[in-house]
Amino acid sequence: RRYDPHRPPARVFALITRDAKNLNQELKPKPEEEKWKLALLQRLTAIANEVFGQAEVKPFGSTGNGLALANADMDVCVFLNMPKGSQEVSPVEFVERLGDRLERDNEFQNILQLKRARVPIVKLNHVNGIACDIGYQNDLAIWNTHLLWTYCRIDERMREMVVVIKTWAKRRKINNPYMGSLSSYAYVLLVIHVLQRCEVLPNLQSIVPGNGKIPYWDCQEFNRYFFDDLSNLSQYWKPTPESLKQSVGELLYEFFRYFASEFRYITHVVSIRCGRLLTKEAKEWTKEQQQHQRHQQEQQQQEHQQQEHQQQQEQQQEHFDHPETSPSESTQPEGQTPMDTKPTVRNRYLFCIEDPFELDHNVGRPVDRNSLFTIRGEFMRAAKLLSKNGDGAISRLCQERE
Ligand code: ATP
Ligand code: MG
Repeated sequence: RRYDPHRPPARVFALITRDAKNLNQELKPKPEEEKWKLALLQRLTAIANEVFGQAEVKPFGSTGNGLALANADMDVCVFLNMPKGSQEVSPVEFVERLGDRLERDNEFQNILQLKRARVPIVKLNHVNGIACDIGYQNDLAIWNTHLLWTYCRIDERMREMVVVIKTWAKRRKINNPYMGSLSSYAYVLLVIHVLQRCEVLPNLQSIVPGNGKIPYWDCQEFNRYFFDDLSNLSQYWKPTPESLKQSVGELLYEFFRYFASEFRYITHVVSIRCGRLLTKEAKEWTKEQQQHQRHQQEQQQQEHQQQEHQQQQEQQQEHFDHPETSPSESTQPEGQTPMDTKPTVRNRYLFCIEDPFELDHNVGRPVDRNSLFTIRGEFMRAAKLLSKNGDGAISRLCQERE
């Protein structure tokens, strides 16, 4: 580890740890919330079955990975097991048919059919207050949820850190990919990266029993293999004695210190798949690539504008498109001022976080120059706060930003 003149003494870490654990207790989803979510999942399964026949509805994101805060949204994905020979349901048709059916039910409100998104979804609010996104046949999302859940089970400190970091990111307003900042998913990948560096977590995608060659398990043309047989993990990997001694407070400080002053945004790519940093050059996440993609995007935008004449109703809904699922990153939720209104692809590789399975996908793609400045500023603020007096540091850290 690098020499760090600002590193606080152990008593400061003890106080941060105590407060981080208290925040975890406070923000744990209540048992009734879990019950409501389960009931909603069952209700949606019944409706999907009614509309399509043979449907299965699976939770993903924080509903499935064990990293939910109280009142988190629910992400679910519908899978259809259509009988052989029957016609496939396209994503657009799926959204239309399910959306129309849900409209007829008083139980659901604010239903949006996002048909033109790259991955079409239905968005809604249940009358009991739960917001829900319904996707379609997205196996990769299920697998990355399972990967995060598996990491979470290896060491309790991961969850404790994620709860603090999600809360910090939400309250400091840097957890909104619509506005150029990072999704919760991206923050969790950053946490795993730091914990791999500290040897608190292994790299599950490189552990292979037997002959040592990483198998290829196809999922939407990507390799979804990772080691998930945790009862036998100790045969292949053990945390170092030093890493076992690190408190959550110490690890949180390390997380913020690392992204405030060590990570090189200009050259580095976070890769939990490799368990180390990669370079933008090695991944070809460089300027030339960006220009090529920019050209492609400009073409896409032209087509997009043509379509807009025909699809006025959806135009309104597009404001809510998830940037990951949207055909254009210029879409912004209504009533908010975008940090960068120009949809330049140039900005796609400013904060590079490799998706663990979809290797050509930068999870930090929404980040533009302005938001990178803001996010880095928040990392610095956090590192500074945690290096001072530990008492009350977590509540100062998570103070709402106006
Ligand atoms: P929260 O409780 O804050 O909603 P979450 O754990 O559900 O957090 P999200 O960021 O909502 O995290 O992500 C949910 C799922 O959506 C992830 O598991 C992932 O499959 C997918 N996802 C989100 N952001 C991205 C992204 N930038 N790239 C690829 N997939 C993403
Ligand atoms: Mg979510």
